[in-house]
Amino acid sequence: MTTPDVTLDVDGLAKTYAGPGRTVEAVRDLTFRIERGEFVCIVGPSGAGKTTLLRCIAGLLGVSGGSITLDGAAVTGPPPGMAVVFQEYGRSLFPWLTVRRNIELPLKEKGLDKAGRTARVDAALEAVGLHDSADAHPWQLSGGMQQRVAIARAVAYEPSVLLMDEPFAAVDAQTRADLEDLVRTLWKRLGITVLFVTHDIDESVYLGQRVLVLSNRPTVILEDVAVDLPDERDQLQTRSSPSFADLRTHVYELVQLAKQGHRPGDG
Ligand code: ADP
Ligand code: MG
Repeated sequence: MTTPDVTLDVDGLAKTYAGPGRTVEAVRDLTFRIERGEFVCIVGPSGAGKTTLLRCIAGLLGVSGGSITLDGAAVTGPPPGMAVVFQEYGRSLFPWLTVRRNIELPLKEKGLDKAGRTARVDAALEAVGLHDSADAHPWQLSGGMQQRVAIARAVAYEPSVLLMDEPFAAVDAQTRADLEDLVRTLWKRLGITVLFVTHDIDESVYLGQRVLVLSNRPTVILEDVAVDLPDERDQLQTRSSPSFADLRTHVYELVQLAKQGHRPGDG
């Protein structure tokens, strides 16, 4: 038997939140693989378990069943080389550190010297358009700007696996387009593996090589949609192409089915 070069293997994942007097079965049976270097988007109804899935993959939440392996090793805690941009960005920055120090911190842990760290931080701040805010504290910035700091921190880290949970929900449309292209550029330049959760169907098709459409809770995969668009994407040309329109229509219809409670195998 040969072992394929799998980055991330989610096999039969189940997650039930059990609290006093309240049990929520968030994820029932999720199985999928992401090969090294793939860009995969996940869409699904609100409350479907997308954040739960990401937190399990990031090693921040224990699973109730099934397994998650990264490069063959079971994920039992935050894996090295993985960066996560959370949905609740405000809580992911240290309020007592400046923007620069927030971005620099993981680079220290990575062992980069001062000059290397400064160069990375400056480049990442430039890339997200925040070079003027390096010495500000997070609480002095708008929500969208805080989110860009969180993105800059992930970009500067140059992870091998990047998980993003609706990262652009709080930024304006123009910034969002720029950040989408930034993530695509980073992905291509570094050959990293990206798992990107979004509720924006157009965004999932624009960014991904595949779109995994999740069912309603308890979550399973409704369809694994291949995005057969050229690798060179352009905000205007790609989004106005007929194949883009076909794909977004298809994903849109799947998400509608998911919201109505449709499960795989239903007629
Ligand atoms: P999504 O990100 O797709 O909107 P979530 O993963 O945040 O979905 O939530 C999936 C389900 O699990 C929801 O019903 C939510 O209320 C529930 N849930 C999420 N976190 C917790 C928790 N810590 N305790 C109990 N239930 C939770
Ligand atoms: Mg969520």
